[in-house]
Amino acid sequence: MADMPRNFEASAEIMLSCPQDIMQRLCAHFVEFGAVAIDGARSRIDTAFGTASMEACLGCLKVRAEGRDESSLAYVKLSIAEHLLTFASAENPSIVWQGDGAAGQPLPYFREMRVVRTENLTPHMKRLTLAGEDLGRFATGGLHVRLLLPRDGVAPAWPVTGADGRPAWPEAGQRPDVRIYTLRRVDVEKGEVDIDFVLHEGEGMPGARFGCNARAGDIVGITGPGGGSVAPADWYLLAGDETALPAIGRILEKLPEGAEAVVRIEVADDGEEQRLTSRAGLDIQWLHRNGVAPGKSTLLEDAVRNVRWPEDDRSVFAWVGCEHKSFRAIRSYLRQDRKLTRQQHLVVAYWRCGFEGDTARREDS
Ligand SMILES: Cc1cc2nc3c(=O)[nH]c(=O)nc-3n(C[C@H](O)[C@H](O)[C@H](O)COP(=O)(O)OP(=O)(O)OC[C@H]3O[C@@H](n4cnc5c(N)ncnc54)[C@H](O)[C@@H]3O)c2cc1C
Repeated sequence: MADMPRNFEASAEIMLSCPQDIMQRLCAHFVEFGAVAIDGARSRIDTAFGTASMEACLGCLKVRAEGRDESSLAYVKLSIAEHLLTFASAENPSIVWQGDGAAGQPLPYFREMRVVRTENLTPHMKRLTLAGEDLGRFATGGLHVRLLLPRDGVAPAWPVTGADGRPAWPEAGQRPDVRIYTLRRVDVEKGEVDIDFVLHEGEGMPGARFGCNARAGDIVGITGPGGGSVAPADWYLLAGDETALPAIGRILEKLPEGAEAVVRIEVADDGEEQRLTSRAGLDIQWLHRNGVAPGKSTLLEDAVRNVRWPEDDRSVFAWVGCEHKSFRAIRSYLRQDRKLTRQQHLVVAYWRCGFEGDTARREDS
């Protein structure tokens, strides 16, 4: 008889002054991402990658994390730890997981990658092809990765699994910069991924600088993949600026024949347009800023407001990625005016004027 696949498991007992309260807050948060069941002092959260079972005891929250593989378990531990430490920040509790995925081991969702090719797609968009091993997990379950970018002139040092489930980073001088990018193409057999970098203006900008200066042989880390998914529908709205163009291109390539997609993409000018292919019926409009700085126009928001939605009973899904101000305006339009449910839309701030990296998304409610 073939061996049954085993679940990977870990548990932690976390000292807290109000464990029931923290458990409730964790459950309320994860309702958006999975199935949550609460029964008195016990609860269970089921997400796409695994399960967390919790029991609020006197002065302590007992948590059991389970995943179908090492990465899934690591994601459960990481997401419980991050949110618990936020919700209980006043008492800064200690979390030490026992079981699979011990502290000090490599992060199972990390890969070291090497630049093998570069290509200028347009004047402000450059494609890097990265090669690495065992990339199967990056082909499904989310479009984006975190890029771990070694600092100039510093040998790369990567994070490992921390005792609390979060990555344990190398000391400050060696710590890589982290930026989020989309995997435009994943070829598991060849062991390659493509990432398209917007070469934008700004200070510092380790992401755009790496894209601009990269040469074959350069080393970079990736963790992931992550991000919400596009639900199956008959009709899609896909909208974004150039940073979302790689994601829109990849989503379009997956849409089936018979689907329809209305696509609105804001770019600097006509020199930044790219050829997009899909089996779905496409209505594409490119929106040119023509000299207006990125993040300073309302082109995308206006175009989304002007889209004609199906008037029959076809199912719809809206996907949007753009600068923070447009993100807020478009999300509120889709929710309040179009009355889309949470299952019918995914709107994400891809960057924010004047903010670095992931700080763009910290205050995005
Ligand atoms: C899920 C997700 C997927 C993404 N996928 C991609 C992708 O495939 N390709 C891609 O190029 N970007 C992508 N982005 C956006 C990218 O992560 C941000 O633009 C990021 O800030 C770039 O990092 P940086 O180091 O170049 O600049 P930072 O150090 O983060 O920022 C430096 C300065 O540049 C400004 N800035 C940042 N981005 C832009 C921009 N696009 N235009 C003008 N000014 C900017 C900032 O406001 C800041 O003032 C994605 C973001 C998310 C959340």
